[in-house]
Amino acid sequence: TSAHAPAATRTTCGYCGVGCALDVVTADGEVTAVLPARDGPVNQGHACVKGRFAHGYLTSPERLTCPLLRRYGRLEPVGWDEALRHVARGLRAAIGAGGADAVAAISSARATNEENYLVQKFMRVVIGTNNVDNCSRLCHSPSAAGLTASFGLAGGTDSFDDVERADCLLVVGANPVEAHPVVGARLLRRVLRGAKLVVADPRAVGLALHADVHLRPRPGTNVALFHGLAHVLLTEGLVDEEFLRERAAGLPELAELLMDYPPDLVEDITGVPAEDLVAAARLYGRARQPAIVYGLGVTEHLHGTDGVRSLANLAVLRGAVGTDRGYGVNPLRGQNNVQGASDMGALPDLLPGYGKVADPAVRSRAEAVWGVPVPERPGLRIPDMFAAARAGALRALWVIGEDVCATDPDSNRVAAALDACPLVVCNELFLSETARHADIVLPVASWLEKDGTFVNFDRRFQRVRPAVPSPGEARSDFDVVHAVAVAMGSDIGCPTPADALAECGRIAPVFAGLSHDRLDREGAVPWPCPDPDRPGEAKLYKERFATPDGRAHLAAPPYLPPGEHPHDDYPLLLVTGRRWAHYNSGSMTRRGGNLALDPVDFLDLHPDDAARYGVRDGAQLTVESRHGQARLIARVSEQTAPGQVFSSFHFPASGVNRLTSSHADTVTSCPEYKVTAVRVRVR
Ligand code: SF4
Repeated sequence: TSAHAPAATRTTCGYCGVGCALDVVTADGEVTAVLPARDGPVNQGHACVKGRFAHGYLTSPERLTCPLLRRYGRLEPVGWDEALRHVARGLRAAIGAGGADAVAAISSARATNEENYLVQKFMRVVIGTNNVDNCSRLCHSPSAAGLTASFGLAGGTDSFDDVERADCLLVVGANPVEAHPVVGARLLRRVLRGAKLVVADPRAVGLALHADVHLRPRPGTNVALFHGLAHVLLTEGLVDEEFLRERAAGLPELAELLMDYPPDLVEDITGVPAEDLVAAARLYGRARQPAIVYGLGVTEHLHGTDGVRSLANLAVLRGAVGTDRGYGVNPLRGQNNVQGASDMGALPDLLPGYGKVADPAVRSRAEAVWGVPVPERPGLRIPDMFAAARAGALRALWVIGEDVCATDPDSNRVAAALDACPLVVCNELFLSETARHADIVLPVASWLEKDGTFVNFDRRFQRVRPAVPSPGEARSDFDVVHAVAVAMGSDIGCPTPADALAECGRIAPVFAGLSHDRLDREGAVPWPCPDPDRPGEAKLYKERFATPDGRAHLAAPPYLPPGEHPHDDYPLLLVTGRRWAHYNSGSMTRRGGNLALDPVDFLDLHPDDAARYGVRDGAQLTVESRHGQARLIARVSEQTAPGQVFSSFHFPASGVNRLTSSHADTVTSCPEYKVTAVRVRVR
């Protein structure tokens, strides 16, 4: 390397859950280029417009460079010592007034594994509560619950390299061409090389153009759709009887339930023509090695966990999970480290590695490492935190890297909850919607400025390395948690991120074989990885399922309707999702060149609806639901089905999440972002 060659740092993309390996080129402390790593284990030399170009936010003049403290209603710059004193004083006051359970923390996918580990340890060890949750509550908590109930572990069943070998792909409730472009490209490559493709999504998403069958169920009817597919598999004998006999449980109950879901009745519920349903089931049922890939269109529903379990049924009926006869059930994670945030135990009922906090044996393993008792009672989930704040029971909330006022549903009520809470501390890059409601804002490093690991959507740990220094006095979330602990008079150990991952492995055997040194040598290692001398398990359940009886469990939940329906006052159904150039609330991707690529938020609506409501392409719209109002620009498109409209949530100023409801998955409290009754009018 020449002395003048620009430096490059290998790291992992901080946007979607694909986890592309990137080489970040810098000069004079600034990023000059981001190149996809040719040897990247998932991306294989590719990256999308987000990972490659959305780094202008690093040098934005709007970056927070010093702590802010609210005085007389205004946020004013202060030094770290003063900010930390106020945080510690506020936390102690909250505990004094309401006990440890009057404090809660929301961690996030934006934080590394090590930061998530430290946040949950801080809450359990220093505060003494299980009130810690992370943003997976809002997206894939039904995946964790559903996959654990069906198979035993909370991750996808197969590696994406294997999924790409499938001869039939069933892609459900996902738009990978825009939301996970590198995976979208690999799926498309597989289809162009001959794999059959079934897409199940209400919208004509990019992959649907290449589908052999595109099923367009009404939003909120997934469970009926999956039961309809299962009905065809069963009645046409497209099942693996030996697998069902040897390795599965629950077939009699499911078979009885499926009698109620013949294709013509499923057509009535879902709107999917019976012949299309049968054709899709035959493609999946007759494939040699099928795979299921799914996204938030399955999980973000009132019955999202039922959806995950009914979808998992299909793989079990076919014997396409834990065998060489298929590639299982694989959730596409929307955010870079949303899998890792949960893996690390930033959850109110689970410790690192998914051990139940209510289980004395699980607690005692953590207590042996931490040296203090772990509280037994599960803590509050994110929506319950807001409800407790509104009721006056939650007196301090620490929000780490999550813009809850922009991305959580029914956001007017979220803002009211923050305003009712006596202390809101917010770790942020920018003065986000949430930070505007905070009492103390702590400036933190972004993914290009910090050290640790992420876990991607197929359970691979990869290293995150700082390519540039963080601006001003911004610190990593890891350092901030340490500093708050010290201000509270505690030492929570784990002086470095490498130490934190090592300590996590002592509590959670599935991570015991992982270390920063190993990841530096090997690049990517999937969990479970209990042994430092053996590879992690890319394909799960080859020997047995991780359920107590070692079997895959078929589920038989009846179809139940969604929380909202179109009616005279609100005749359209709103579905929200992601667009190609932006990530989540857009706080990073809107600051830089990606804004020019995708500059405004639209409301997509079908030409029939546009004609019915007198809407022209480009019209300024007011969109209303029972919960609030948003302002969007009309985009007339057949991509959206008649009676449905679509918008992203990348532009908080539009107020899309003021529209969405508080309906949530009955098992996990994941919001029903995919079904909101709305009306539109031209402004
Ligand atoms: Fe890869 Fe996703 Fe990052 Fe795009 S956003 S570069 S697909 S990890």
